[in-house]
Amino acid sequence: MDTKDIILELRTKKGLSQEELAEKVYVTRQAVSRWEKGETTPNTEALKLLSKLFDVSINTLLGSPRQMVCHCCGMSLDDATTSKEIDGIFNEEYCKWCYTDGEFTLDFWKRYSNIGGEEKFMEFKTQLVNEFNVLNVEGMPKVENLNVLSGSFVNLEYTLPNGACVKFLDDNATYLGNQLPCEFGGTRCFGIVANMDFLLVCTYEENGANPELVIYKKR
Ligand SMILES: [Zn+2]
Repeated sequence: MDTKDIILELRTKKGLSQEELAEKVYVTRQAVSRWEKGETTPNTEALKLLSKLFDVSINTLLGSPRQMVCHCCGMSLDDATTSKEIDGIFNEEYCKWCYTDGEFTLDFWKRYSNIGGEEKFMEFKTQLVNEFNVLNVEGMPKVENLNVLSGSFVNLEYTLPNGACVKFLDDNATYLGNQLPCEFGGTRCFGIVANMDFLLVCTYEENGANPELVIYKKR
């Protein structure tokens, strides 16, 4: 869809006249009319205001020319999953889990952003991938990438030989990890999780059932 149709549709859905929309984004009614006829497209400032007003990203207003991905975890983004700044303006670089209320949610990302930003973070990720691969876990395929994972999703409870149950992670923290199929087939797969301090490899059945710890290694 073109910007002109998108603006028309969003305006109509919100029950606004051209006049009313114009007032809200500080332009003339004629300007709105020209946008909707496709004679002009809104300038950067107007796009920002429209984005906030309609609660859609600028990318959506422009007809989704970019496939947006979170620069932190790599997930693809749509308007529902894109992060926002405190003032409600979309931050189209990150997903809402990696970046919330003007801040990165990842503790290690915060630390890395202080010393070198995205580049350092990618280096860190690559380093973790290498560290997983040199573990040479039997049956585990080569690790290619790590995703950002919320602690609450990957904090499995392991049963120790003495019957006690333990968890190693923090539900509220964010980790880098992945799920990998077992090279020997079967129903179990590998789960790997890491942060700045440790690497963890486990296996489990579907949906994390019956997890077994393979390696828990301090870095
Ligand atoms: Zn993300």
